[in-house]
Amino acid sequence: MDLEKVYAYIDANRDRYIQLLQTFVRQPSVASMHPDNEDMKELVKRTVREYTGAEPEELKTNGNAVLYTELKGKRTDRILGIYNHYDVVSPGPEEQWRFPPYSGTIDGGVLYSRGAADNKDALACRLCALDAIRSAGEELPLNVKLVYDGEEEVGSPSLSEIVAANPAKFYADGYMWEGGDRLPDNGPLIIALGAKGMLSVELFVQGGKIDVHSANAPLVPNPAWRLVWALSTIKNERDEILIDGFYDGITPVTQAEIDSLRLGRFNPEDVKRLSGIETYLGGVEGEEALKKLLFSPTANIDGMVSGHTGKEHKSLVPARASVKMDFRLVPGQDPENIAQLLRRHLDKHGFTDIEMVVESFCAPFRSGVDSSYVKALSAAAADVYGAEPAIQITLAGTSPMEKICKYDQIPVAMIGPGNTESAVHSPNEHIFIEDYILGIKMAAAVIDRFAREE
Ligand SMILES: [Zn+2]
Repeated sequence: MDLEKVYAYIDANRDRYIQLLQTFVRQPSVASMHPDNEDMKELVKRTVREYTGAEPEELKTNGNAVLYTELKGKRTDRILGIYNHYDVVSPGPEEQWRFPPYSGTIDGGVLYSRGAADNKDALACRLCALDAIRSAGEELPLNVKLVYDGEEEVGSPSLSEIVAANPAKFYADGYMWEGGDRLPDNGPLIIALGAKGMLSVELFVQGGKIDVHSANAPLVPNPAWRLVWALSTIKNERDEILIDGFYDGITPVTQAEIDSLRLGRFNPEDVKRLSGIETYLGGVEGEEALKKLLFSPTANIDGMVSGHTGKEHKSLVPARASVKMDFRLVPGQDPENIAQLLRRHLDKHGFTDIEMVVESFCAPFRSGVDSSYVKALSAAAADVYGAEPAIQITLAGTSPMEKICKYDQIPVAMIGPGNTESAVHSPNEHIFIEDYILGIKMAAAVIDRFAREE
């Protein structure tokens, strides 16, 4: 494949490709808001038809459909899987946005919108790359499978079942996943090869039937206190998780994995800057902080609700209290098992009355650093960005790659055109237009390099 010819086609068609991203981000597609998500699905189907000439298939259980398309290329013994999702998270507080969250406004070379960096940019980039290869008159050098999830932001609840029903469809020799980014100021591309798993739960405590005056506090049990007491048994002040068996079976981190942190390229101070804190938990610094960020499991409180928190004072004993928690898990931990251990833990500490609802499961996944796929990625990144990528063994976050890649241990690489300050999930999510164009070239380069790799 003549990559230079493809790059030239991309440059000549940049306006059309930028418009495609604007069209994508202007269509709201919050996973739980069905009509919007249906409209986005139809938009993606139309674009796949127009940009690849193939007809996407809908794979469905109860939730939003996974869109699946197979493209035949020259080399039939090599398959590149491409995973993206067409849903987004809700915009959050609109007044905090510089421009309306679905406007797709471009200001000073930056496109602002929900979905601009997570991950309608990557979704569009790869379709544009396929369009450019075809329209430049080049033959697709390998087989490509396009997989578009409609529920990634809510934990991809249907994906395992869909994969189990169609295992051959999801087989590939490597997956170009979504979710990577680059360091700001034209820094290196960060390619992550795995992700932590996650268990999300909500815990409910019921006291009386209704909120009552706090004069009754000597007699009426307070569910907010009960929840606080229960939570205090889960983690101590030294950041140790106290659930029996929680740490059992964790796969030890290898020296190669530690070496792959390439400390010089990741600034362990970044999370301080992002969150506005001065010291990390436990006072860790430098490489210790990075190891903790990437390799340790967590028990996190996302939010708590109970009683009255409004401006005026109102003394009452609330009737109900609830908390949402997420547990980020590392290889060797199974989310369903952790859910059982948590239930057992609550019961053992006398909290049998606390209702526990599991919201989602996702197992952890890591692929190796030395596959031919990773070699192809490094070569492609060096070609497009003029620098070797920073290979990161795992994300600190979660992605449902295990649902597709676990059985065949398919190597995965998270690549994305955004940067680490793209405000993903926050107000003012954005992407640099030039990074978006580079992202299209990167997708074309990966297709080319992976076809040429042994
Ligand atoms: Zn997301």
